[in-house]
Amino acid sequence: MYDVIIIGSGPAGLVAGLYCGRFRLKTLILERINIGGQIVTSPTIENFPGFPGGIPTVELIDKIKNQVDELEVPVITEEVSSILAVDKSGIPVYTVKAGDNAYETKTLIIASGAQSKKLGVAGEGKFIGRGVSYCATCDGPFFKNKEIVVIGGGDRAVEEAIFLTSYASKVTLIHRRGELRASKIIEEKLRANPRINLKLDSVIEEITGKDKVEGVSIKNVLTAAVETYLCQGVFIFVGIKPNTDFVKNLLHLDESEFIITDQDMKTSLEAVYACGDCRKKNLYQVINACGEAAAAADSVHRYLLNLK
Ligand SMILES: Cc1cc2nc3c(=O)[nH]c(=O)nc-3n(C[C@H](O)[C@H](O)[C@H](O)COP(=O)(O)OP(=O)(O)OC[C@H]3O[C@@H](n4cnc5c(N)ncnc54)[C@H](O)[C@@H]3O)c2cc1C
Repeated sequence: MYDVIIIGSGPAGLVAGLYCGRFRLKTLILERINIGGQIVTSPTIENFPGFPGGIPTVELIDKIKNQVDELEVPVITEEVSSILAVDKSGIPVYTVKAGDNAYETKTLIIASGAQSKKLGVAGEGKFIGRGVSYCATCDGPFFKNKEIVVIGGGDRAVEEAIFLTSYASKVTLIHRRGELRASKIIEEKLRANPRINLKLDSVIEEITGKDKVEGVSIKNVLTAAVETYLCQGVFIFVGIKPNTDFVKNLLHLDESEFIITDQDMKTSLEAVYACGDCRKKNLYQVINACGEAAAAADSVHRYLLNLK
């Protein structure tokens, strides 16, 4: 019987592990793929405090993972498929099914994060891995001296567009509104980059090609004019979808399936907490994923103290 099982080992899951380890709780982290979560698909993180000029993402994650290891909190690579709640004399106990195993725990921290949303246009599915990408670090090097388009207007899209200019000969950023949503400091960098062309008030209608991406059709939403633009890559950064399928029938979620919590990270179910990008909130960043993880671990600790 674990005191706490943490689902996910992105920044939120790791920091939850760090805090639970320091509370000396019997803790297990379950991770379906790689340690580090979404952020490891980005080469550097510039806005994490304490690292002027930024820090390579892998280095930051390694540092946090080392802290978790020092506390001997295990991370097992298994995907959680379901959670079963059993009431034992008024006190809940949870059985977490992961791979072929089942683990019992008194409390849970869901830190399962999110993944990139699809754009939903013709050609997108057909050309994934053949010119369509959701990860600049993973796929940027394949586009050396090629022309690419980046879709989106938030921090992530703008940062990745700038990063992609280290490979591509030209990057065109396409955004459906007249203004970017990104922070001004990042937008300034974008506008100063001679390799980036900005197309506002525009949407992609279709991604075209034979075996791989050869172009996109772009519609100006103000004039309805459609143009064909030749390019070899399409990078899509249009938001995130939470990884919450396995708790869909267990917890209260919002209409986009993000987990609803209170300010102490408590979900609709006793002894179950959630933190990071799987949670309903406004800002989806590493800094607040880490802060919420600390709060979730603290709530777990308080709950367990009250059980005694
Ligand atoms: C390209 C890109 C650039 C970004 N740039 C920045 C930036 O510059 N600054 C910044 O602050 N933020 C940035 N972000 C956002 C940041 O990555 C997220 O806010 C942060 O990773 C959220 O952490 P998390 O731990 O909540 O979730 P995630 O990082 O999504 O981690 C969740 C983990 O849970 C695992 N998981 C999911 N379901 C299960 C399951 N059923 N069983 C077991 N494990 C499961 C996943 O495999 C994953 O490892 C960027 C994101 C991307 C994609």
